Amino acid sequence: ERKAALAASTGPGVTSDGHRVPLLANIGGPSDVAAAVEAGAEGVGLFRTEFLYLDDSERAPSVEQQTAVYRSVLEAFPDRRVVVRVLDAGADKPLAFLHPSDEPNPALGVRGLRALLDRPEVLRDQLTALASAAEGLPVHLEVMAPMVADRADARAFAEACRAAGLHAKSGAMVEIPAAALRTGAILREVEFVSLGTNDLAQYTFAADRQVGAVARWQDPWQPALLDLIAASARAAAEAGKTCGVCGEAAADPLLACVLTGLGVTSLSMSPTALPYVRSTLAKYTRAQCERAAGAARAEDGAEEARRAAGAVLSGE
Ligand code: PEP
Ligand code: MG
Repeated sequence: ERKAALAASTGPGVTSDGHRVPLLANIGGPSDVAAAVEAGAEGVGLFRTEFLYLDDSERAPSVEQQTAVYRSVLEAFPDRRVVVRVLDAGADKPLAFLHPSDEPNPALGVRGLRALLDRPEVLRDQLTALASAAEGLPVHLEVMAPMVADRADARAFAEACRAAGLHAKSGAMVEIPAAALRTGAILREVEFVSLGTNDLAQYTFAADRQVGAVARWQDPWQPALLDLIAASARAAAEAGKTCGVCGEAAADPLLACVLTGLGVTSLSMSPTALPYVRSTLAKYTRAQCERAAGAARAEDGAEEARRAAGAVLSGE
């Protein structure tokens, strides 16, 4: 019995009718690895690499320093997927050495991939470090760029990955509405997408994620956000490529079922959320998840969407 309970609490993500939805961990560095492994993460869906760059406001860490840190993370996930996000500087993650001095709207300025394309040596060093960290390890390394807006962004990132000799899948985060609407075009350049619902909500609703007064529009149950996720997931399915979610939305067990119903192919979250999402997903069939997603999208507000999905899943 204990064994069965342990399997249910650490096994793979799967609906009650056997549809697999890998459950991955969001980590911020090597110190989060133990918690991810303990919670039964099937890999890493978002490795935020910003912490590496916080020590020195003047310059980026050396390739050697980065390689050692990446390797210690990659070693912990043999034969697993590890999705590393390249540096996402700017806006809510300011970095002195990369950040332009005085933008009136930093969230709409030179952040994420834009900052890296302005400073190609910073991107090159990070990709080089990732390539050498993965050398000889059995890990499935995937590398993705934050704040991809269009196909040209995706192409520039894929080219940088190739130029660095990286043998890894390259991907784009979908966290700008334009990228959600044109995921098919982006997937002509890269091999997967991952939805960053925190920023996608911010940009969809013109609601700064750091301003509490507009928190209502940061609610990931907002039907407009669900519409964009559905469009992106559909385009990825048509392209035969994966479309995960790595924003906070994936950590809400009920919403995780709705995301599954929308066609999202993996869910990445903080390790503490993994057991709850795993056990909730295991209660419902894929068709039930699809019905819950349809019910949520038929509503016009976040609260109503949450209630409608909950009613479908509880059989009311
Ligand atoms: C997101 O925007 O949803 C995301 C996962 O990235 P971050 O929260 O680090 O911006
Ligand atoms: Mg983001």
